[in-house]
Amino acid sequence: MGHGALLHGLWAAAEAGRLGHALLLTGPSGVGKFLTLERLAEGLLCQHGPGEPCRKCPACRRVAAGSHPDLLRVDALSHGFEELTIHFVARREVRPQNAWAGESIETFLRLVAGEAGWRVVLIRDADRMNEETQNALLKTLEEPGEQVLLALETSRPEALLDTVRSRLVQHTVSSLTTAEVSQALAREAPECAADPEWLRLAAGSPGRLLKLWRRGAGECLSLLMRAFREPIQAPSLAAELLELPGDFKGRTPKAEERNRVRFLLELGLEVLRDQERLAAGLAREDVMHGARLQDCPCPSDAARARRLEVWLEGRRDVDLNLNPGGVLERILDFTNSLLLERQRA
Ligand SMILES: [Zn+2]
Repeated sequence: MGHGALLHGLWAAAEAGRLGHALLLTGPSGVGKFLTLERLAEGLLCQHGPGEPCRKCPACRRVAAGSHPDLLRVDALSHGFEELTIHFVARREVRPQNAWAGESIETFLRLVAGEAGWRVVLIRDADRMNEETQNALLKTLEEPGEQVLLALETSRPEALLDTVRSRLVQHTVSSLTTAEVSQALAREAPECAADPEWLRLAAGSPGRLLKLWRRGAGECLSLLMRAFREPIQAPSLAAELLELPGDFKGRTPKAEERNRVRFLLELGLEVLRDQERLAAGLAREDVMHGARLQDCPCPSDAARARRLEVWLEGRRDVDLNLNPGGVLERILDFTNSLLLERQRA
């Protein structure tokens, strides 16, 4: 969706024997970078390819079923790993018990092509590779083998080592238009795809919007905006936050609470940054949360800067596993103090 021109260019390059063997797709998070790479692979492996995959031939069906022998998807998060450790790239004699034990890139590439065509390795969120992993991948990037494509995707290319980046041909995709976001989500989230209020929250990224929608961002934003308008005590806000309908699954109730507080802080930081944009003179309609901020008091430059800092500290403390209730209390104490000061003045 929205990245068709790039795909057709890459398929044409493959047809002409100019595709190269390592590419990096960058762009904002949630705009469909990994989906684009999957489609690229599908179109390379299709029996009628390279080109738009037919979705009917046995190769296409195998890709769709996740059982094509010449396609390896390296996706840490989908297996419950935060980090792409070296075990995803190379088999090691010593492997910690809870490390990745599935197929490694090196093992995959040692096999002969199952269908005598392309062999494709897709790496999702390449920024999750630590330095050791990246160094191990370098070896493969230097000698990938015949008709091998390594395709990486990340929204944070700066997390890659220069040595790795210099071996990749970089392509960048940009945010989608509102119409494209709406079309991309028409099936998965029809109510959301048809609502201008929601579409405005997408910022050109269907992935972002879907996440916000599943977590009930609408209700969370109402709660936040109240907190930026009038003093709310932390226990009462926490109680309301716990009642929000969104999907915040965690392994324990504490983890779920942390997910909720983190979500509130992330949205809150977005709103606060938008208030900075308004204060800097941007037009209300050009700022995502502009309309929402209309009846919120705007504290002085210094007070806003300090409040932003307090919220950022809170966001960091939640990641450091500090008690989310305590973090919420600290943030609200400060936010309330600005509102009370204003009421007194
Ligand atoms: Zn096909």
